Amino acid sequence: MVKKINHIGIAVKDLDQAIEFYEKIGLKVEGTEVVESQKVKVAFIPVGDTRIELLAATSEDSPIAKFIEKKGEGIQHLAFDVDNLEKELAKAQENDIRLIDKEPRLGAHNMQIAFLHPKSTNGVLVEYCQKKR
Ligand code: ZN
Repeated sequence: MVKKINHIGIAVKDLDQAIEFYEKIGLKVEGTEVVESQKVKVAFIPVGDTRIELLAATSEDSPIAKFIEKKGEGIQHLAFDVDNLEKELAKAQENDIRLIDKEPRLGAHNMQIAFLHPKSTNGVLVEYCQKKR
């Protein structure tokens, strides 16, 4: 079951500079983390019970660097909390939704994550995430 929005991912060129804006409007960074597999550095900013996830590339061949090159800075993905990631991925496949990740993998915050392809979601990169058990 898809439960709620866990976070909104925003691609930025400069993490520190981007953080400044959120601090100016009164929000606070909860932590930063480098996700080697994605070649990104992320900063989490809680907003109520959801979060903004700022993503900056750590390498030129990072998916975030490619995204910014193509589309510029901005909203990059939408992440939903699911209660059972394997089950939701199987369900998506049954419903002919194209998957980027057929198997869950490790994302930031020790979450199991998987992405659905924007071709199947009207252009929105959708992430499913589940707290690792
Ligand atoms: Zn995310």
